[in-house]
Amino acid sequence: MKLKRFISFPILSLFLLLGFVYYVTVFIFIEDWLGLQSSTGSLNALILSLLVSLCVFSLMVCVLSDPGRVPPGYVPDVEENQGPDQEIKKSGTLQRRCDKCSVYKPPRTHHCRVCKRCILRMDHHCIWINNCVGHRNYKAFLLLVFYACVASTYSAIIITSCTFLKEWDSVSSHSLKSFYISCGFMSVFLSLILGTLLLWHIYLTTHNMTTIEYHDAKRAAWLAKKSGLSYHHPYDVGVYKNITLVLGPNMLKWMCPTAVSHVKDGLGFPTIRDNS
Ligand SMILES: [Zn+2]
Ligand SMILES: [Zn+2]
Repeated sequence: MKLKRFISFPILSLFLLLGFVYYVTVFIFIEDWLGLQSSTGSLNALILSLLVSLCVFSLMVCVLSDPGRVPPGYVPDVEENQGPDQEIKKSGTLQRRCDKCSVYKPPRTHHCRVCKRCILRMDHHCIWINNCVGHRNYKAFLLLVFYACVASTYSAIIITSCTFLKEWDSVSSHSLKSFYISCGFMSVFLSLILGTLLLWHIYLTTHNMTTIEYHDAKRAAWLAKKSGLSYHHPYDVGVYKNITLVLGPNMLKWMCPTAVSHVKDGLGFPTIRDNS
């Protein structure tokens, strides 16, 4: 049962954190600052509810989707393996077959030790979704980080504004003041972490790289430089094309985590060689 994946400490803590941020922002800070009965207060609460719902929806898609498995009986195209899609192991030999799964590996496929199987276009194994981030759920993951970042920034703005604008002279409780300031710091800290994570994945998306490939590319660039050459990531086919390969060709569907009809089989990917 896929639903069993939700029974994990990191996922449950994520839901708890999300619930806490939502509850505190709406029922303590918005209520105190603007009042939930006012039109401004209810509008802010509505916007935050929408953002948090989108976060939860993206999280569910990330957890429940299969990141991409190698089809049984897959045999690599011999010609394809002689192109830039080749993945060179640290030893310098071609990485074509997974010893653990006894299957041929399509380009960009890696074996996940946690999932105990090969994942197509594997990015990384994420404990927060108790699943791998791979070919089929990368869009949902990117949107999860995006919505979480926007929601936490929105909440941080409300919490800090409310804390700064509150008339503290008339409040005698020190613990209330400490609570407001702690929430302010926590929300800003959370936004900064999520903002950094979002920028990192925007960088990877615009360069059509996975986290694994970024580290491989760093090594390949260093080796190429030593030989007086320059390294180009073979799957970087231009910023806009790279973005559409993840989010889809239709901009209207970019923000929907389940709009993945553009996602191909994950056994082959366009390369700079195709463009030249
Ligand atoms: Zn494997
Ligand atoms: Zn995994």
